[in-house]
Amino acid sequence: MIDKKFLRTREGLIRFTLRMLKKHGIRPQKSLGQHFLVDPILIDVIIDSLELSKEDIVAEIGSGLGTLTLFLAEKCKKVVAIEIDRRLVNALHEVLKGYDNVEIMHADALTISINADKITSNVPYSISSRLLEHLLKRCKFKLAALTFQLEFARRLYASPGTRDYSRITILANYYSIVEKVLTIPPSSFLPSPKVYSQLVKILPREVPPFKVKDDEFFFRIVRELFTLRNKTLRRALIIAGKNMKIPSEVLKEALRQLEPLLGLRVYMLRPIDFAQIANLLFDLTH
Ligand code: SAM
Repeated sequence: MIDKKFLRTREGLIRFTLRMLKKHGIRPQKSLGQHFLVDPILIDVIIDSLELSKEDIVAEIGSGLGTLTLFLAEKCKKVVAIEIDRRLVNALHEVLKGYDNVEIMHADALTISINADKITSNVPYSISSRLLEHLLKRCKFKLAALTFQLEFARRLYASPGTRDYSRITILANYYSIVEKVLTIPPSSFLPSPKVYSQLVKILPREVPPFKVKDDEFFFRIVRELFTLRNKTLRRALIIAGKNMKIPSEVLKEALRQLEPLLGLRVYMLRPIDFAQIANLLFDLTH
């Protein structure tokens, strides 16, 4: 068994990471977001954020070399360590030998439906948006502690009218409450990424914050309108309406009923305004 005392310091984590990469002939792949945790404080903060109990089943997405997995295993009933890279799966089997409450899964997390009490991940940057959408729409969990690129994390809890406010803000807000926990410098990972990261907590909502008649239609409207984020709602609706092949008389009626909002730019609309727009268009077209 790995001596975890060795992994309680930054120097120990760096030595462990370099040794394991060399032993398994692994050159970290940028496309898979392979930046490994070498910050013992961050390990503690992630574990604290998950509010673990001995009853919890935790899914870890992208377990890498298992540094976080080792500490998770100590605190909960079971860890499911999901890793896409076969070379890292081999390393995980070595690192986690002797831990009978860890299941190692060689899988692409975007293609499996995850059902766990808690979920954690240092999310590979290139799949941030798809993974969050997958977790919120198709997976089941009570709490997730996720590390994203800082710019992406800011979009999750942005306010209407700001630069960071976007389609993903509406998605995150509809399905969950997002709490920012900690901003993380590049030096917490090896190799260091070029960007800062941020750990956030995601708490899925039991009921959505407002009523939407059809989820898919709502998100289609949100997506179409946000491609026109700086246009007034009047212009954006006319353009989006054409893209979506909404009959002109329906659009005219929608514009009439939405009059008070028409002068606002798309990025100024509140999530509930998007719901009002989508519900109206849904009723007029179905
Ligand atoms: N958790 C480890 C750590 O903190 O040291 C590694 C984090 S690293 C930022 C991201 C990990 O996710 C890599 O090990 C990478 O191979 C894995 N990964 C990338 N895409 C994945 C996917 N679609 N499904 C599962 N794992 C993935």
